[in-house]
Amino acid sequence: LEASLNTLECACAAWAAVLGQENVTTQAGELRAAETATFPTGHRIPAILRPGNREEISECLRVAARFQIPLYPISSGRNWGYGSRAPAASGCALLDLRRMNRILEIDEELAYVTVEPGVTQQQLYDCLRDRGSRLWMDATGASPHCSLIGNTMERGFGHTPYGDHASQVCGLEVILPTGECLCTGFGRFSGTASAPVYRWGVGPSLDGLFTQSNLGIVTRMSLWLMPAPDCFQAFLFRCDQDEAVAPVVDALRRLRLAGVLRSAVHIGNSYKILAGVQQYPWNETAGRTPLDRTVMRQLASRMHFGSWNGSGGLYGTTAQVAAARRAIRDALRGRVDKLQFLDDRTLEMAARFSSPVRWVTGWDLSRSLELVRSVYGLLKGIPTVAPLRGTYWRKRMPPPADPDPDRDGCGLLWCSPMVPATGVHAMAVTRIASETLLSNGFEPSISLTLLTERALCCVISIGYDRDVEGEDDRALACYRALTAELEHANYPPYRHGVLGGYMRGDAAHGNLLRLIKDRLDPDRVLAPGRYEE
Ligand SMILES: Cc1cc2nc3c(=O)[nH]c(=O)nc-3n(C[C@H](O)[C@H](O)[C@H](O)COP(=O)(O)OP(=O)(O)OC[C@H]3O[C@@H](n4cnc5c(N)ncnc54)[C@H](O)[C@@H]3O)c2cc1C
Repeated sequence: LEASLNTLECACAAWAAVLGQENVTTQAGELRAAETATFPTGHRIPAILRPGNREEISECLRVAARFQIPLYPISSGRNWGYGSRAPAASGCALLDLRRMNRILEIDEELAYVTVEPGVTQQQLYDCLRDRGSRLWMDATGASPHCSLIGNTMERGFGHTPYGDHASQVCGLEVILPTGECLCTGFGRFSGTASAPVYRWGVGPSLDGLFTQSNLGIVTRMSLWLMPAPDCFQAFLFRCDQDEAVAPVVDALRRLRLAGVLRSAVHIGNSYKILAGVQQYPWNETAGRTPLDRTVMRQLASRMHFGSWNGSGGLYGTTAQVAAARRAIRDALRGRVDKLQFLDDRTLEMAARFSSPVRWVTGWDLSRSLELVRSVYGLLKGIPTVAPLRGTYWRKRMPPPADPDPDRDGCGLLWCSPMVPATGVHAMAVTRIASETLLSNGFEPSISLTLLTERALCCVISIGYDRDVEGEDDRALACYRALTAELEHANYPPYRHGVLGGYMRGDAAHGNLLRLIKDRLDPDRVLAPGRYEE
């Protein structure tokens, strides 16, 4: 122990020589906070480093190799539900890239922006607004303070036609574990203007190696933005029966394949919506958990939302949006119990007359108005803090003005299988999720996102209160049971957190990845355990 403490002290002194003492932390309180996620991980962090540029990152990696203390990079560290800031293995020093937060270029004509890892959703949104840009970004439902690069490194997604983030970026600048810097695509030819506009470059394409991996630290990325459409409308729909989601998914897939729908369409079940508008109904359940289906149905009917509740956006000229509206009406007729279109004017009316609006639309927007507003905003790429409050679902305290699920003991584990976009698969995956969560004592809060023309992402959340004794263990047991069931049904997750899982597959695939890792990271200094078998 003494030797390793001594090694750590020497490493910290070397890192401080590179970064300045003020950018190296070993203060116990800060370390414990950084190790705290929304579920137990047990992974210890011996130091936090805050580099300010890529040269400093390279030097930090060299020091890491010399003292055999690996680094774990985070861009904003808000990877809630998947591990927050906690590394995938114990003993990694945290490489916090938040100081590198410059927006390096915005090209209005070609509609892209180049950013560093610390740039947040809110920062880009404010920047576009302040310069009167005609470009819209995509935003996730996570906090406005989440990093654009951090989310893309996990291949996260948002709501607009640019929602599948990893497919809307190019020209990565990457520091390899040896400290060397490379650029992907055309970026390798210095001086070419094509790097931010064409992903593949020429020859083998490397971009995919650096998302969901531990092969490099991304220090720069260009992401494409959407020209603001002439006309925008959102559509919201509701189905009152559980099984109704199957024909709806089939109908929406056909509309996406036909190009009528371009945005990601999100469909949340009743549990998901309830957690979006209020905390656990402790009174209605006399304090018992989980919230059973019967009480859930009564609450949904009282609050006018369905078993399934969907939202999507229509973008284009006025004529295109009108044609898309007609197509959606035709496709969903007889399949949904309510279909509603919203635009800025209707939403403003809803805000002004939140109760009378019910006679206009049939929707009770009074309690759900904030949820509708945030969903509507997300379809226009406006970041929001509203969904984050849902992480306080089972807490006995109300969500504070500055929600922080790690700090406040909000329990959250996400499990996100990707399935083919058919009604049959939607029903199968949601049935597994509902049965497993309820039988393990948790509410099955589920969303289905038609992310592409062909793929549906099911996001299942296990929400709980970490301050209740035994709940951590019960939630982890539920998570393990759920991942085992999904693995058995051949539904792999599109991403996973620091608990790992479901990486086993074809041996040749694993062998190649190990070979690449061994060559790129001979000293094993970068994020051990991250997306490894
Ligand atoms: C209420 C709520 C709603 C959410 N909604 C969404 C949603 O709509 N869509 C969605 O995708 N997620 C969502 N999330 C999950 C999560 O919070 C987001 O994905 C968030 O963007 C990830 O955190 P971050 O941006 O801070 O990334 P970070 O935590 O900084 O990074 C994530 C991981 O990527 C790796 N990494 C980070 N930076 C680099 C780098 N520069 N180079 C190499 N590797 C790096 C690290 O291993 C890190 O652990 C939600 C979470 C909550 C609680």
